[in-house]
Amino acid sequence: MPDAFRSVLFDLDGTLYFSDALGLEISRVANRYFARLKGVSEEQAQELILAVRQRITAETGIEGTLSLACVALGGDLRELHRCFSEQLCPEHLLTRDERVVSLLEALGSRYSLYIYTNNNRSLSNRIMAALGIGGFFIRVFTIEDSWTPKPDRRVLEQIMGEIGQSAGDCLFVGDRYDIDLKIPEEMGAQVWLVSRVEELLALGTFTERGQRP
Ligand SMILES: [Mg+2]
Repeated sequence: MPDAFRSVLFDLDGTLYFSDALGLEISRVANRYFARLKGVSEEQAQELILAVRQRITAETGIEGTLSLACVALGGDLRELHRCFSEQLCPEHLLTRDERVVSLLEALGSRYSLYIYTNNNRSLSNRIMAALGIGGFFIRVFTIEDSWTPKPDRRVLEQIMGEIGQSAGDCLFVGDRYDIDLKIPEEMGAQVWLVSRVEELLALGTFTERGQRP
């Protein structure tokens, strides 16, 4: 594996901010959407989603995401994301973390920064604005670019082509290994798993040549 990189591709949710409150709201909106779709209560919808996610995990060996559960339940990803955009208020739930802003400012002066997220464009933009990080990314790849959620090798190859980099030139940063990092790592990228802000901030210890100290 190469020990240097030129570009950093971040996941957004759970990677560049850490908010249980927003995660809970996303679950509530999804429950409401599937309750209406299936003609059941929101509690029943929640159980249905959980069961499908667990089944996907058991069958595929990778984490069953909400996006995959949506498709498996006969839902419409576009409609689900319309509900997210209309019903979620990230501005009320997120606070700007100056340490993250400074980190991205420093990394942006050395590397080309991108976002690759299963979130939609409008919500991603509002989340980034609330966090004060909207200006640091050359391009933001969202679910709307393909309507094919991560993990997906074909979409990843398209992204690599569009940014003009090979996987070996990239560092991928995410909070879910199976979803954000497994395929990039298989393709030869470096990966960095984060579960809390301290692990994200540790990226600041990379040297200017894109190598771990
Ligand atoms: Mg995430």
